[in-house]
This record gives sequence, structure tokens and C-alpha cells, in this order.
Amino acid sequence: MTEPVLKAKPRRTAPKLVGQVRNLIHQRDGVLTHDLVRAPGEFGLGQVPAKLKPDATTTMTCGFCSTGCGLNIHLRDGQAVNLSPATEYPVNLGMACPKGWEALNVLDAPDRATTPLLRGADGRLSPTSWDTAMSTFCDRMQAIQRQHGPESVAFLSTGQMPTEEQALLGALAKFGMGMVHGDGNTRQCMATAATAYKQSFGYDAPPFTYQDFEESDVIVLVGSNLCIAHPIMWERVLRNRNRPKIIVIDPRSTETAMAASKHLPLKPKGDLALFYAIAHVLARQGWIDRDFLDAHTTGYDGFAQHLQAYAPNAVAARTGIAPALVEEVADVIHRGERVSFWWTMGVNQSYEGTRVAQSLINLALMTGNIGRPGTGANSITGQANAMGSRLFSNTTCLYGGRDFENRADREHVAGVLGIDGARIPTQNSLPYHQILERVRAGKIRGLWFICTNPAHSWSQQADARALLKSLDFLAVQDMYHSADTAALADLVLPAAGWGEKEGTFINSERRLGVIKKVKQAPGEALSDFSIFRLIADRWGCGEMLSEWSSPEAAFEILKRLSVGTPCDFSGIENYLHLDRNGGIQWPCPAPAEGVAGQRRLFEDGRFYHADGRARFLFDPPTDMPEPPDRDYPYLLLTGRGTASQWHTQTRTSKSAVLRKLYPAGVYVEVNPGDARREGVRPQQRVWVASRRGRVAATAYVTPTIRPGQLFMPMHYPETNRLTLSHFDPHSHQPSYKDCAVRIEAIRGAEQRSPQKTATEAPSVSRSTYGD
Ligand code: SF4
Repeated sequence: MTEPVLKAKPRRTAPKLVGQVRNLIHQRDGVLTHDLVRAPGEFGLGQVPAKLKPDATTTMTCGFCSTGCGLNIHLRDGQAVNLSPATEYPVNLGMACPKGWEALNVLDAPDRATTPLLRGADGRLSPTSWDTAMSTFCDRMQAIQRQHGPESVAFLSTGQMPTEEQALLGALAKFGMGMVHGDGNTRQCMATAATAYKQSFGYDAPPFTYQDFEESDVIVLVGSNLCIAHPIMWERVLRNRNRPKIIVIDPRSTETAMAASKHLPLKPKGDLALFYAIAHVLARQGWIDRDFLDAHTTGYDGFAQHLQAYAPNAVAARTGIAPALVEEVADVIHRGERVSFWWTMGVNQSYEGTRVAQSLINLALMTGNIGRPGTGANSITGQANAMGSRLFSNTTCLYGGRDFENRADREHVAGVLGIDGARIPTQNSLPYHQILERVRAGKIRGLWFICTNPAHSWSQQADARALLKSLDFLAVQDMYHSADTAALADLVLPAAGWGEKEGTFINSERRLGVIKKVKQAPGEALSDFSIFRLIADRWGCGEMLSEWSSPEAAFEILKRLSVGTPCDFSGIENYLHLDRNGGIQWPCPAPAEGVAGQRRLFEDGRFYHADGRARFLFDPPTDMPEPPDRDYPYLLLTGRGTASQWHTQTRTSKSAVLRKLYPAGVYVEVNPGDARREGVRPQQRVWVASRRGRVAATAYVTPTIRPGQLFMPMHYPETNRLTLSHFDPHSHQPSYKDCAVRIEAIRGAEQRSPQKTATEAPSVSRSTYGD
């Protein structure tokens, strides 16, 4: 009997398998080998990609966050081809975060605005000439002013532009165009710190230098996820050789909290009571610096009286922190020789943020932890040039921290600028939210947004968008025509970005650093400085502003304006001087080559109030206006998501590298117990709803968020559909981190098609260029 011939059944996967094997042997897609070849870069750069080998380099500061890292820009034929962190720059010492590494790549995005865009009768934005754009801008703004008065037009600007551009805008709008009201997006992040410093120290003066991260033996971080929000500052903490105790105070178990010596997971908005409780223990134990208090402060006795009501057990229900832990933290602060207190948005973006910031300032003052290495009550800024905006944008204060309502200040500025003092408004500008309220009341009818994106970033977003749509004229000056606010505009003015223009930034530690033009802006886009000059000429005030002929000429004007103020930097010769020194911190009143690279304020114990003394300022805590209730049982916290995202992502979303480093769609962090109770599984699509709308998000179930709380990153446009518009009464900063929401699993077909359920809120029609 013959054996049956067994024929192998052909395998259906064979061709696929063969293809896979072939691909292993011969890669058919991806980067070509010659693109991976590296070569000595020269200029001290080590190895660089051979195809990007530079023929020159220059240095400038990064244009994203307030850390102000120094970057080496690799040039070929005068154009930037690559970059690397500067090893000698005293801020970052050779380090950069992902955003910095990708700073050049986001300039090449296809949605860059390359010509002015004008909305036509068909409702669409279409390209137009600069000549038409300028006549449209001036004619429509002037027509509104003629009909409704000078206060009927206003501007809202940014902490992302160089100081020279902010200052020229302030002169153009307020002295040239006759506007009274103009504010910046720094109101959304830093107004609280600025106000707290002004009231406590007599001037908006962050006292620290980054070296203090390395000098402290106790570091207290409040509402600051330093690891991802300011990663290079966290690297400076890691360089500290004193084995510092790191105390993190934050409702969430953030990356920074997990790395801390001690994490206090306080209840949201329990911060003011907690810092009073710590101060109570310090006062009760006599752990105060009486000599310092007597010599350099005023108001301590009243503060001590106030503290009597804040024993740790009396406020435990409000703070959620056990009294023993409060005693322990007070003991750590007492034993520390160099204690530094640092805060950022968790404090600033609060309806009582100014008093919370001052409760930290009070702790530093009462323990004498200020003016010495490793100490300070230190606000970490957000945007690259928030500090420039705070001092020189001519919005919240007259140049240099002066007061529009002070006649002597107005006369001084008019004298320095050589203009008629009558051109300077005699009243301070309304803050951002009151400008929007004037829009609602029909009193402001023309708005000019420069380098900011409120259609994404402002709280209670549907309301904000409806207000923008109600304007007679909305002009937006931006790098990208796709920005949420640009898409609503009547006129888009295409702007050059960081790397395509020059000027200076002031970072968190008061360091002035230079940015340079290392790339050609695309198409007809112009630097903001050039756009302001064009508007000045067309408006008819170009002659008055003729001295503002270039950024470096504007820098000379700013030096003169700074004389006589605490931020006097008239000793800085020019941009080259800044370059040679790795930036220079203010004050710098006298020419100083080789000025010390790390300087802090108040070493002599003298503050900026007329009597030289710092103030103790305090108020009782107040209740949040929209606490969770039966219908909306969770509290929504918002904040930074990853180190690779920046604010509304107009820039960071343009980098393919950065996009790989964070989830593409909006997500919400949910505590596992809450997820079980709500029937929500990990990665499930859920509705998050507040009284202002509801959005679909992906559930991220994690114990890092406490029961009863949810967290959504601010970088996704959906998040501010939910937030509530309410404000700190002193700084007028929005309180983004407390509103009541509910969460519910999305069921059935909607679960499978998330793009159809992304957002549900009052819609505003958008007609974008190219739609
Ligand atoms: S930490 Fe800030 S300044 Fe430094 S590289 Fe990153 S974004 Fe730029």
C-alpha cells in the first residue's frame, strides 16, 4: 500500500510573511542611511547630522516658557538648520526640554499665515495685500472710535513677544491710537504674582535666581508640577548637593509630588488655610526671625493675631491635611537654614490667589528666608516674556511699573519719549475680563488680538467666542491662520515668530536674554514690530514714534524708561553685551562687564515701599463659588498635561516629534473608585459636563487624582468649554481650577465614533481660510 502523498496546504499568510522578511533585509521606508550619518559639527557642538553640519552658530534664548534657556542655533548660509542647548548659558547649563529642541521645526508648518487675510462678503477669509489690510484696519478702528468714542476699541496682547514689540504696541495703541484699554494674556497666568509682589514688596519683583534651586536645604513647591511644567528648573533642583527636603503641596499626586520628600495632598482651595496653619505653628513655637521682622517688615503683629484662628486642627476639615503633618512641615521649615518657597499656576489661577501668594510671602518674611542664597518667596513665571509684559507692555502699568493715574509718572514718561503728556491716558486700563464685559455691554466694539488665542484659552469658552463674534471688528495678528481666534477674525495679520525676528525676553529670574532673526519668515509675514510701524504710519502717528525705528532702538528707549525704577537696566550696553554675558538680570543700573551671573534681590533687607519695609497682608479664606453638589458632584482641576505641550498648542501641535509625546485627543483623569462607581472603564469615552456645556473625553483611570476630583489638561480646546469665569478680586486673574462637573460613560454607537461626539456646547460659526 502506497502512502498517500501529503501535499502541503498553501499558507495564506506566505506573501505577507515574505514581504516582512524582505523588509527586514531591505528597509523600504523610513529614514535613509545617508540621513543618519553624523559628522563633527565644529563650534564645540560635538557630532551633528552630516547633512545639517553648520557653517556658523549663534546663541539666543528659547521662545516658549519663562525658564529662558539658552540655545545654540546652527546656521548654514545665515539660516537656521538645527539647534542644541547652550552649555555655558547660566540658566540651562546644556539642557533643554522637548519644546526647546523642536523650536525651529514648528516654524515650517503649512498653516502659517503668509499673507493678510480679509473676510469678504461671502463670509470667507481671503488673501489680500498689506496695503488693503492696513487701510482696512485703520479705517474700521477709526470709524468705531469716531462713532463710539476712544474707549470703544481695545487690544489684548501676549507674554510671548519680545519686550521691544510689547513696548512699541503700548506706545502705538495708547499714545498714538488713543486707546485707553489694553491687557495681555499674562492676566491669565501671572497677574496674581505681580499683584502680590507689588502689594507686599512695593514692586513686581521676583527676588530669586535659579541658583537658589541648588542652594536650598528645604524646597517648598506649591501648585507647581515642576517636573513637566518647568523641566529645566527641576533639573536644577536635581543638581542640589544639600540633599534638600522637597515638600510638594498639590491636590494631585503629580510627577513632582511623587519625587518629593513629602507630599501634602491638600483639598482644592484649602491652600490659604493651610499656609495660615503652618504660620500659626511657627508663631506659636516662636520659630520666627524677630530681628528681621523688626528691621525690615511691617504688620507682623496684626498677622500673628489673625493666625490665632488657624490652629492645624481648627482648619483640618478645610485643608484635608492632618494636624500632625502641618506641625511636621512647620518643624522642617524651622530647622531649614535656607528655605525657598516656589509657586506657579496652582496658586495664581485662583479666585483668592493674591492672598494665597502673600501667605507664602508671609512665611518667607516671618522666618527671615529672603535675600539669602537658597531662600525666597519665588513665583515661577509661565510665558517666555511674561516679565517683559508685566513691566513694559504699557498695559497694567505705565512703563517700568509706573502708574497712569500719577501725574508725575506721566510727565516723566512723556519727557523720556519726547511726546505731549496729554497723549498719555490718565486712567489705568481695564483688566482682560472687564474688557470682555464692555464688549458684552456694546461699549467696546473693536478688538485687536496680538499673539494670543482666547477662543481656546479663555474660561467659559462658548461665552467668550460669542462675545468675539459680536464685535463690529475683530483683528487678529498671529503666526498661524488656523489658530482658533484667527478663524473668527475679520482681518488676520500674518506675523513672524520666534527665530524670525529680534528683541529681548525677561525670564522668571529677571534675566534679559536676546532672540535673533535666524530664519526668513514665510511669504509676506512680517515681524510684529514691523506691523506696528506700518499701522503707526497709516494711522498718522508714525512721526511721533519715529525713534522706535528698530528693536535695538526700542531697547535704548526702554533703558531710559527703566532709569529710576527698581528694574533699572540702563547699564546694559546693547544686545551684544547680553550675548557676551549669558543674559543679565535686572537691576543693572551701571555699565557692568562680567556682571555676576546669579543675583537675588533684597540682600540688604530693603524692600521697595517708601519706608523700605515689606508688608504682611492677609484675609480669611473664602468659599469657592461653584462647589460640587448633587447634580455636578466632581470638582474639575485643569493644568499642564505634558512637557511637550505648550498652552493652546498653536505651535507645539505643529511638531511631529512633540505630537508623539502626548495623547492626540482630550482625556480626563478619574480616580479608580470614582470610575467604578460611575461604571467607567480605562480608555472608555466619557461625557464630562458642567453647567456651561459637555465634552467627550477619554477616561484615564489613575490613583494620582483624588476621589471627587477630575483633571483635564488645558492644552485641548475642549477643556475651557467647561470652566467657570470667576476672578481674583485683587489681580483679576481667572480661577481655572475649580468648577463643578459630572462624568458619565458614553454608551452604544457614540462610544465607537468619538469624533462625532467631541464637543457639545453653543456653536459659533467658523469660516477659516481655505475651508
Ligand atoms: S524649559 Fe522652557 S525655555 Fe527651556 S527649552 Fe523648554 S520650553 Fe524652552
